[in-house]
Amino acid sequence: MTALPAEVDVLIVGGGPAGLSAATVLAPHLRVLVLDREAMAGGIPRHCGHPPFGMREFGRVLRGPDYAAALVARARAAGVQIACGVDVTALHPGPAVSVTSDAGPARIAARRVLLATGVREGSRVERMIGGEKPGGILPTGALQGMVHLEGRRPFLRPVILGTELVAFSAIMTCAHAGIRPVAMIEEGPRATARWPAALYPRLRGIALHLGTRVLAIEGRERVESVLIDGPAGQQRIAADGVILSGRFRPEATLLVTGHLARDRATGGPAIDSAGRCSDPDFHAAGNLLRPVETAGWCWDEGRRVAGAILADLRGAPPPAPESPSRSAPLPVTLGPGPLSWVVPQAVVLGAGAFGHLQLRVERPARGRLVLRAGGAVIAGRRIASRPERRILLPLPPDLPAGGGLSVTLEEG
Ligand SMILES: Cc1cc2nc3c(=O)[nH]c(=O)nc-3n(C[C@H](O)[C@H](O)[C@H](O)COP(=O)(O)OP(=O)(O)OC[C@H]3O[C@@H](n4cnc5c(N)ncnc54)[C@H](O)[C@@H]3O)c2cc1C
Repeated sequence: MTALPAEVDVLIVGGGPAGLSAATVLAPHLRVLVLDREAMAGGIPRHCGHPPFGMREFGRVLRGPDYAAALVARARAAGVQIACGVDVTALHPGPAVSVTSDAGPARIAARRVLLATGVREGSRVERMIGGEKPGGILPTGALQGMVHLEGRRPFLRPVILGTELVAFSAIMTCAHAGIRPVAMIEEGPRATARWPAALYPRLRGIALHLGTRVLAIEGRERVESVLIDGPAGQQRIAADGVILSGRFRPEATLLVTGHLARDRATGGPAIDSAGRCSDPDFHAAGNLLRPVETAGWCWDEGRRVAGAILADLRGAPPPAPESPSRSAPLPVTLGPGPLSWVVPQAVVLGAGAFGHLQLRVERPARGRLVLRAGGAVIAGRRIASRPERRILLPLPPDLPAGGGLSVTLEEG
């Protein structure tokens, strides 16, 4: 590893699609350093040995590792310095970060820090699944690492828990390794992923159990069966492994002890519409902001937040306030009902990194999404959605100064 600089213009924590796209935008103008704790940059797609990645970014369909390599190559060509095997361990006002690597501990100062540390999957403990603790229970990410990076096949007939986007990534990983999942289990009445992805398990001969809970994972040393309870009553499925998908949380370990405000609902940093954290020297982008978006979405978000950083460092900080009162961010609150979180959590007038509010529901819901400022309705749209699906509410160009914004889903 080449020596780490003591100081750069922009330091980016996390070399996934969000961090690399931001770095690529910034590097022609500034000294940019990307740090990643893994042996190679590229983030989660490096572990996803399947398509489809890259249409938006490269105009063609790529497998995850090829997509990751193309992002890295593009960033390096733009002049980005990428240092791998470097774990960022703390964030400091200034801004600065503490790191550890083979070269020992170090501190790096920057003019701005962008956090892009992605997302992690919920463990079995977090899901409160009963039963013994046999081997062969893996989150999708660990399965992908074993299959694509280590060439291993941890089981042959697993059950998949979850039906959102990443569960389908798990099916593709299994197909690549000759693993044949026997069932997919979903607590809700429908698959979470949008049609036609929801047809995919059936096309592959995988039984889809909807409205079904897992009562226990059984087996002494290895998984032997999974006990479920669904519309047909209790059933025992013979299996030699379990893939846990979904229940994502932002990888926000750095916020636990740091000085940045955390949004309780998303689990990630609270940001404004310029992508700025509570300490405006820190920005954030990508899946750290919320669980969980696609690679293309995070890539685009990284670019947009990089644009805001560039404007900030060039002395044109968003917003361009017409009066001091207009410069205060407008906090966004959620009304009662099924809305579970919103990103960004504050809107700065004139700040363009986020031209919309992104939301999710905690249960299937439909109705009119209404944005109010000081009680007056300023935007709205009808939605029908399910948990873990993206909901966007475009921000109107003219927002009233002062006060705050609230979003409510009026069901019906
Ligand atoms: C198991 C799994 C499978 C997925 N499959 C798909 C798929 O098939 N298609 C799709 O579009 N999306 C998929 N996703 C969503 C995926 O998160 C996005 O595709 C995309 O990778 C998000 O980009 P990102 O840059 O925000 O974060 P990531 O890609 O997660 O990159 C974050 C990077 O930050 C680094 N990092 C974290 N903390 C530190 C630290 N303290 N110090 C240094 N480095 C750090 C990590 O090593 C990592 O490289 C999947 C997600 C998961 C969890």
